[in-house]
Amino acid sequence: MIRLTDVSHDYGDRSLLSGVDLHIAPGAFHFLTGPSGAGKSTLLRLCYGDLRPRAGSIELFGQNVAALSRDALADTRRRIGVIHQDCQFLDHLTLAENVALPFIATGRAVPEADLHELLSWVGLGHAAEALPPTLSGGERQRAALARAVIMSPDVVLADEPTGNVDWDMSQRLLSLLVELNRMGTAVMIATHDLNLIRTAKGVVAARVLRIADQRLHTAGSDL
Ligand code: ADP
Repeated sequence: MIRLTDVSHDYGDRSLLSGVDLHIAPGAFHFLTGPSGAGKSTLLRLCYGDLRPRAGSIELFGQNVAALSRDALADTRRRIGVIHQDCQFLDHLTLAENVALPFIATGRAVPEADLHELLSWVGLGHAAEALPPTLSGGERQRAALARAVIMSPDVVLADEPTGNVDWDMSQRLLSLLVELNRMGTAVMIATHDLNLIRTAKGVVAARVLRIADQRLHTAGSDL
């Protein structure tokens, strides 16, 4: 579904990623780890066509990103749900409206029943009418997860989804992502939390990728 071939990237001054090959297949569960500043967020952005690589090629669902028009890329990106590190919301809209934003923004009717089922699934059924500033960190992360999956994407990319929450909430978010994966959605989670990865390995066949020295490595079982 997402394939990077010999991809390199930099932001001008120094090389950040070099010779990266990656394939996210249907139903896969990947962790992406590496120290802060290694390029995890950058690699995720490359994976959803938000950044063009300096070299190499990126295919999303069989189409080369370099050859896609802006509109075609926007269409393709709907098949990829993204949970951003900072999970921003529009503070004047309710939680339900924020989660439904991918529908509202594209002028489509909001599937109300699906929306409420989704909010219940992430444990926010009671907070549908709440405004984002009143939500806790864990509630925001779960809302971001709901927003990422409302369009039923084939793959979800999550950037440090447990970065600002306590261990219990990390476990809860992880179990939601594992459940999603069991229903067939491919998942890739960028995290530096090795405890989270260790926990996940007990419940899902996760592949652990690590960025080190600009390269993407498959991590061994020594985590
Ligand atoms: P990670 O997610 O592993 O912490 P990032 O991909 O966020 O790493 O960042 C890798 C490096 O690239 C960092 O040194 C960061 O400062 C730099 N960087 C990230 N985004 C930009 C940008 N838009 N412009 C310039 N430098 C950037």
